Amino acid sequence: MQPEGLLIVISAPSGAGKTTLCRGLTQRFPALQESISYTTRKPRAGEQDGVDYHFVSESVFRHMVAEHAFIEWAEVHGNLYGTALATIEAARQKGVDILLDIDCQGARSLKQRGVDGLFVFVVPPSMAELRHRLESRSSDTSEVIERRIVRATEEIRESRWYDYIVINDRLDEAQDLLAAIVTAARATTGRMLARVGKMFDI
Ligand code: ADP
Ligand code: 5GP
Repeated sequence: MQPEGLLIVISAPSGAGKTTLCRGLTQRFPALQESISYTTRKPRAGEQDGVDYHFVSESVFRHMVAEHAFIEWAEVHGNLYGTALATIEAARQKGVDILLDIDCQGARSLKQRGVDGLFVFVVPPSMAELRHRLESRSSDTSEVIERRIVRATEEIRESRWYDYIVINDRLDEAQDLLAAIVTAARATTGRMLARVGKMFDI
């Protein structure tokens, strides 16, 4: 019997390096599927519809909310973001591990509803470094960066109820830690027992 796929939820304050770490994780685990969220945010330069996000209007998004199409959704930095229930169900049925890059509100709503997932929070090594990363990414105005810095402290407070915390200081070390967390989660007794039972006829 094949165990259900893992649901890996990763949150972090903007600029902590979550996108970079998630990219590294999917390179290391090519079978890992990234959940593509729906958002009302406008695409940034280089972003593609259906690849980075499903970019939709607010009315389409609200319609999906009314139809219960989302397993979770939230307003982040003035835009709406949501994870489609269908995406998660399809991955679980196929036994594929799926990665959700979502904010704390969305993650909390999944955790509170008892969704069986691996909840990982990524923090930067310091606020000064967070600012530096946001500025060096140069995709946001200084006003947006200030808003993200203020929000970061509130978000880091949320790290207390996640299953794991990864400090993204040296990228290679953070990447190794994240991979180790995923590898360990694949070997929990709950996931392995049915297979062991079959192997040894117990
Ligand atoms: P997020 O997705 O959390 O907003 P990004 O992955 O876009 O963050 O990273 C923000 C910036 O910081 C990017 O320019 C990225 O290259 C850089 N960065 C990410 N991780 C590290 C790290 N460990 N050390 C130095 N720079 C990093
Ligand atoms: P960005 O606009 O920079 O891509 O993402 C902004 C924030 O929205 C990030 O914290 C990201 O994790 C979060 N986010 C992206 N997709 C979803 C989603 O489907 N649900 C929730 N709750 N947050 C999301």
